[in-house]
Amino acid sequence: MDINELSKEVEEEVKDIFAKIDNVCEYNSMKVLKAFQDNNISDMHFGSTTGYGYGDIGRDTIEKVFAQVLCAEDSLVRSQFISGTHALTVALFAFLRPNDIMLSITGKPYDTLDEVIGIKENASSLKSFGVNFEQIDLVNNDFDYEKIEETLKNKKIKLIEIQRSKGYSTRKSITMEKLEKVIKCIRNIDKEVIIMIDNCYCEFVGTKEPLEVGADVIVGSLIKNLGGGIAPNGAYIAGRKDLVELAGERLTAPGEGKEVGPTLGINKSILQGLFFAPSVVRSSLKTAVFASRMLEKLGYKTEPLYNEERADIVQTIIFGDEKKLIKYCQGIQMGSPIDSSSIPEPWDMPGYTDKVIMAAGAFTQGSSIELSCDGPIRPPYVAFMQGGLTYEYGKLGVLKAIETMEN
Ligand SMILES: *Cc1c(COP(=O)(O)O)cnc(C)c1O
Repeated sequence: MDINELSKEVEEEVKDIFAKIDNVCEYNSMKVLKAFQDNNISDMHFGSTTGYGYGDIGRDTIEKVFAQVLCAEDSLVRSQFISGTHALTVALFAFLRPNDIMLSITGKPYDTLDEVIGIKENASSLKSFGVNFEQIDLVNNDFDYEKIEETLKNKKIKLIEIQRSKGYSTRKSITMEKLEKVIKCIRNIDKEVIIMIDNCYCEFVGTKEPLEVGADVIVGSLIKNLGGGIAPNGAYIAGRKDLVELAGERLTAPGEGKEVGPTLGINKSILQGLFFAPSVVRSSLKTAVFASRMLEKLGYKTEPLYNEERADIVQTIIFGDEKKLIKYCQGIQMGSPIDSSSIPEPWDMPGYTDKVIMAAGAFTQGSSIELSCDGPIRPPYVAFMQGGLTYEYGKLGVLKAIETMEN
């Protein structure tokens, strides 16, 4: 069948789903606009500081805006965070002390945390400081309530980590409904345990954020959803005031904390990125829905299915074939605005165990709110695709990838 014909057919089929995505975008846009207005954002907040960055009113107000949007008491939104992994690392080292137990209830955390936690040997890991790690795997894509309850009753756990997005696994991402249910269950047994959410790829996918359903602290990257494709780098930690303060003291230095941190001219980009974020997440979601249905029609297994509820912007395509995975990723690269003529090959990326192929023709290096696609070279040869600054560019990228793979 002609790909353009198929594409038209698919767009007809997904109309109602797109309308729902539009509604979510409108709701989140209202939230963002209100936070800008309530905090009186003006020209002076676009200013810049250098050196220590004392008294950076733009930075401090950005943190109030993010806190309001995410329903947090406070937030830390900094370009000194290199990436999401760095922000998660700062949070973990800030909250955990020797002999504490960190418990993941969504199985093994994201690959780049292996050396942070000490699952993979590293002389600077949490393990090297005497912090213990335990994990409880998901069962049938849901929490193992029995094991979670048993563990919380028998041991003093300091911190529970919940990773909403699937990472490089084939499990489903965690919906807000499931998250709310498990947090209620945890709180019934333990009022003190810190509930920390790895919120990467999940912001603005729905109308609620994790702090609204009882999480203590959330962490995410600004070269994903909340950066709106405009923030040049950075990440955030948001939630309980005492926890955000601890994270600030760890990011900079005890005694200095959130008071320092020069913004070097990026305040306007951070604000503009957040302003665009609801719409950019919408484009990413539409691109994912379109790709899911297209590839399903071409005979591939996709997760989520085009009409399933989404918890994040990630679309997985299960190729079951190394060559197809590689070709699809190469096609995404060819369909990108930047570096469209360089062909990605699988390589040993720092922080990852298997070889990974990464297609990223992005304005910002490593930005995965821009259309990007990657996959570890291991069975069942799954592509993890996400992003799309506009739906039109997302769709064009997907069509190019399909054409490349099928020929
Ligand atoms: C992207 C991501 C991270 C952090 O990755 P960085 O590339 O370091 O920003 C962590 N957890 C999940 C689930 C992610 O998707």
